Amino acid sequence: MSTTVAKHVDVLVIGAGMGGICAAARLQHAGLSTLLVERADRVGGRASTFEVDGFKVNTGAVAIENGGDMEQTFTDVEAELRLRYPEPANVFRIKGKTVNPARGGWSFLLDQITKKGAKMLTQLGSARRGEMPEEQLTLERWIAGATSNQTVHRLFRNLSAAIFAVNADEIPAKAFLTYFMQKGAFRTFGFHPEGTIGVCRALADVVTRDGGEVWLSSTVTALRTDGARVTGATIERDGRTVQVTCGAVISNVGPEATIGLCGEAALGAEYVGSIRAGARPSANMIIHVASRQPLLDTPGLIVFSATERICNAGNMTATCPELAPEGWHLTVVYAVPRPAVGDFDSAIELALALQELQEELPGMKDPDTRVIDARVMRDDWPAQRAASGYELPRNTPLDNLFNVGDGVRDYGDGGTQSCATTARIVVQELLEGQVATA
Ligand SMILES: Cc1cc2nc3c(=O)[nH]c(=O)nc-3n(C[C@H](O)[C@H](O)[C@H](O)COP(=O)(O)OP(=O)(O)OC[C@H]3O[C@@H](n4cnc5c(N)ncnc54)[C@H](O)[C@@H]3O)c2cc1C
Repeated sequence: MSTTVAKHVDVLVIGAGMGGICAAARLQHAGLSTLLVERADRVGGRASTFEVDGFKVNTGAVAIENGGDMEQTFTDVEAELRLRYPEPANVFRIKGKTVNPARGGWSFLLDQITKKGAKMLTQLGSARRGEMPEEQLTLERWIAGATSNQTVHRLFRNLSAAIFAVNADEIPAKAFLTYFMQKGAFRTFGFHPEGTIGVCRALADVVTRDGGEVWLSSTVTALRTDGARVTGATIERDGRTVQVTCGAVISNVGPEATIGLCGEAALGAEYVGSIRAGARPSANMIIHVASRQPLLDTPGLIVFSATERICNAGNMTATCPELAPEGWHLTVVYAVPRPAVGDFDSAIELALALQELQEELPGMKDPDTRVIDARVMRDDWPAQRAASGYELPRNTPLDNLFNVGDGVRDYGDGGTQSCATTARIVVQELLEGQVATA
């Protein structure tokens, strides 16, 4: 039988995805009593890890960019970010060969594809000087203005798919270029030897180390409000109902689900309407393959240039052999459906991706090679909660309710790094006393 207990904290964080866990670690380390509540039985959300037949399989993110707000979060909360860095980090598969762009950047890369890359380089040069295309121009149309070469088109589509989980006709060229010209753009990144959950576990440990609480297998079912502010939440935990009162709430479940927890009336028709009209989650597919021999000849991530669904792949065991049982390799492959934003047939798209994988990687034909997990990320468990260029606001009409995570990242930002940035900004607002948490 359900009993009700009561509790008070300075800040309630809903969801232990990358944005939520970065926020909770920062808050508790800064001295605010923090309760981090996670529905699943493990931390990480789409940056977590589970086991299949002794292989450590990631739920989403594998590559953790170094530098920037992710590394800064670990420094600020005095925790260790234990990553292993593949070298080279990024390579491309062009005309059957593995090409390392570190040798000469875009110009070297385009040279491997076409001797007519000059206009493309001129366009890239303009973007580097800050002359960005107009907002509505898609990446596909921007490339078409420079070249009709199909390999160049597929290469940029696959870069866009690998980083933003969208096709080239679904992302503004400006958002894509902002990321490559002004942000980290995964130039260097590491893999965690426990799987990506290791990154999130280290931050959850900071919350408890510094006196806060992390509740797993617990679900926030409703938020209470008193007009201008959130005052508390109802949480289902171990068959009991817990009523929490709090000074502020940081939600990592995405702006739409946060509306569901608050109720539409508390947030107002204008805000609710703008979130629903603006929400554009994007989808992708993640495939894990076990093999006796490495399927790739590189330790980092490889971006394909001859494919239409699968976009990139990484041999996780080249740097982290403990992710697979002895004698085995683990390869992760990402694919993006067409379309990635909007409706598509999951079964057909996954079958097309698997077929391409067979054609692209000869080791797939080895009798010992097997797909151990293949899943489509979409709808309320998407690749990105907001497609790039269509980010939603972090602030809400309530003074002390904020969103963090990839639905509310900065324009032209990407990956788990962008979630860490949302957490830094929101926590800073709270700590600067703009919101009373008592
Ligand atoms: C296939 C794939 C590959 C990717 N690869 C990379 C990569 O290599 N590198 C990279 O940096 N990024 C990558 N990304 C992107 C990255 O994984 C996501 O952007 C990031 O993990 C999203 O984090 P988030 O903060 O939005 O939280 P989420 O992951 O959305 O977590 C939200 C959490 O809230 C919990 N929750 C929901 N409702 C409730 C509730 N009512 N009560 C309590 N808890 C609740 C959920 O269980 C979940 O754990 C990839 C994404 C995908 C899907």
